[in-house]
Amino acid sequence: MPIDKPAAHRLGVVVDAPQHSGLCGALDYLSDEALPPGTLVRVPLGRRVVTGVVWEDGGPVGDAAHQVADLAGGLQLKPIAEVLAGLPPLPASWRRLVAFASGYYQRALGEMALMVLPPELRQLDALQWARRLKRLEKALAPPAEPKAGRRRRGAQAAARAGDEALADVQAAPSPVDEPADERAAATAAPPDLPTLTPEQAEALAQLAQATAGPAEPGAAAEGERPFLLWGSTGSGKTEVYLRQAQRALDAGRQVLIMVPEINLTPQLEARVAERFAGRRIVSLHSGLTPAQRLRNWLMAHGGHADLILGTRLAVFTPLPRLGLIVVDEEHDPSYKQQDGARYSARDLAVYRGRLEKVPVILGSATPSLESWFNALPEAEGGAGRYQRLAMPSRVGDGDMPRVRVLDLSRSPKAPRGREAPPVARELLDAIAERIERGEQSLVLLNRRGYAPVLHCSDCGWKSGCPHCSAWRVFHKIDRTLRCHHCGFSERVPRACPDCGNADIQPVGRGTERLEEQLAEALPGARLGRIDADVTRHKGALEEKLATVHAGEVDVLVGTQMVAKGHDFRRITLVAAVNPDAALFASDFRAAERQFALLLQAAGRAGRDAEVAGHSEMWVQTWHPMHPLYQALRRYDYADFAAQQLKERQMAGMPPYASLAMLRAEAKTQEAAQAFLAQAVEAVQHLAEGLGGIALYPPVPTPVQRVANVERAQLMIESPQRAALQRFLSQSQAIWLEMAQKNRRSGLIRWAVDVDPLSI
Ligand code: ADP
Ligand code: ZN
Ligand code: ZN
Repeated sequence: MPIDKPAAHRLGVVVDAPQHSGLCGALDYLSDEALPPGTLVRVPLGRRVVTGVVWEDGGPVGDAAHQVADLAGGLQLKPIAEVLAGLPPLPASWRRLVAFASGYYQRALGEMALMVLPPELRQLDALQWARRLKRLEKALAPPAEPKAGRRRRGAQAAARAGDEALADVQAAPSPVDEPADERAAATAAPPDLPTLTPEQAEALAQLAQATAGPAEPGAAAEGERPFLLWGSTGSGKTEVYLRQAQRALDAGRQVLIMVPEINLTPQLEARVAERFAGRRIVSLHSGLTPAQRLRNWLMAHGGHADLILGTRLAVFTPLPRLGLIVVDEEHDPSYKQQDGARYSARDLAVYRGRLEKVPVILGSATPSLESWFNALPEAEGGAGRYQRLAMPSRVGDGDMPRVRVLDLSRSPKAPRGREAPPVARELLDAIAERIERGEQSLVLLNRRGYAPVLHCSDCGWKSGCPHCSAWRVFHKIDRTLRCHHCGFSERVPRACPDCGNADIQPVGRGTERLEEQLAEALPGARLGRIDADVTRHKGALEEKLATVHAGEVDVLVGTQMVAKGHDFRRITLVAAVNPDAALFASDFRAAERQFALLLQAAGRAGRDAEVAGHSEMWVQTWHPMHPLYQALRRYDYADFAAQQLKERQMAGMPPYASLAMLRAEAKTQEAAQAFLAQAVEAVQHLAEGLGGIALYPPVPTPVQRVANVERAQLMIESPQRAALQRFLSQSQAIWLEMAQKNRRSGLIRWAVDVDPLSI
């Protein structure tokens, strides 16, 4: 296209091309027409045509200033290839959220922008896109006979099947363009609602107060603080979310509810579908097919969906009528993306709430210490940035199970050369008692497989992974040795590969072995197991859970997977059989995680008030007096948090300081560390100039070699978040250039992890 064409516009377009853009923003293109920012376009990039987002319209090219700039730069601007028409432009708030995330997490703007769009949207060309849009419009048309009963059944069945695409169509209450408030009025009377507990009523009153007033319905007042809903497991937090959601829906708004894991979406979906039977509910998570995901995203972006349930990626969904954000189990590490752009969806939800002036509820029984600190009043040494809503009691006054800390040092010793049994006699008896009464037990062990390592007692051989600095785990079911880091798997050798000894033995215990040993120790008991191995196939988890709910399992062995969220009715005993490792882990967050896990696990027991009275949480430990277990015994999260905050303050760790991790991967450990050392040297002057920035020496990561790649990291710490941010932004350019030059030294990749979750 000739550059002198009068109507040509210069557009800044962001594309996913980190290698081109570094951290800089948009690339310039020409367009025949003015296109508003947020429009999706296809543009030539090198030899490819890729999807991009118009970030700014630089105005007509005729503009003298631009022409001068073009001449000076000797630029040959290329025209855009095509426009993905028919899609409302991504709103300014979306662009601001993306821009913030890109800056804060130190990723290229284009990478961030394209990453958070549905994958399919990035691949379709204009023709494919037009077809897709037509199909969607058809699906959005009102159903032929909108019978309330059918609608509701359809929604529930679809929610169960995880096919919300179907749910949307069948649940469609009215034509899409009908105003939202009329739609709300048309909705059938909600199902019988439970009478709120006094604590729920109080929390909702505070939520109402804080969210009433401003002209925009559902919108938070200026300067609104996010809420931390701190409620015991079973205190009825979900009910509070649903009531608050109802308020937002009544005001014609959309509601975004986030959960940490895909596994938890079906339950919530069913509950939400039942409560809001006439509403359009869509889910967004990585378990959907690309077509479903695009479709649901479009429903959200187009304003057709009222409720959006999703995992961390849902935080970026453009929602034109957003009125409430809920982050359930806000402490859960899954909210932090662990590769690529390492963003925290929880933190971005808070940012987004402020940006769009929408209330945000973070909910947890064991909040992250960051959120807890933010919600702690200044008078109590906290930041006072969030408003805390406490719901300490369980619904129906079912108490939390009694905690029994079992001192392993008092159990009889195993005979010499023999392994100690997986559970002490007392605990075994307690489980047997449950079985007799027809109740269920849950035994937790956070390690899957049969045994973490095989060992030859003759020569000392161990089942190491040839590609990683880790042991390969023995899986008895298919007799393999599998590396949980790189996936390398082999048949178990018949004899020791080093000395030929036929008697190689498993050392330690994973869930598979625990299940076997418990079955031996409890003859006649029906054992079940839930972990990542048995739930690998789609639908397997639901099947397993169904057998537990149906009472076909007496003793359920599981990893942390089962500790989260599931609403078990007949479990009256939960036991953690090997929780001590976390007490002495090098990661400063290990204790926090363990406390949350144990408390959450305890919450699986006695969820039925009838059996809550005699429910128990057992902890087998060599350290019964450890303050973590002592706080757990009293279910005293506040006390535990206070202990932890004191330690963090002394150590200068979050939430009293901000951290970032610079990580490098290379062919050799030396190369990885050399890059980091060089990186430190290159920015030392910046750190000194800014002040208050501490750069720690490079060290190997906890598992230093994975799939033949050596990994190292260095920690960057500052008491001031803003200073750390400034330092990182300034350093990025220097590191980028350094990395380019380092390519021949064996460096494979490097990245900054802001607010790292593990160190
Ligand atoms: P949480 O999310 O805090 O773990 P839930 O919201 O799942 O708790 O509530 C636990 C159980 O109590 C659920 O079965 C829920 O239906 C029920 N429940 C919640 N609120 C009430 C209430 N006000 N009255 C009766 N039952 C309630
Ligand atoms: Zn050997
Ligand atoms: Zn490996």
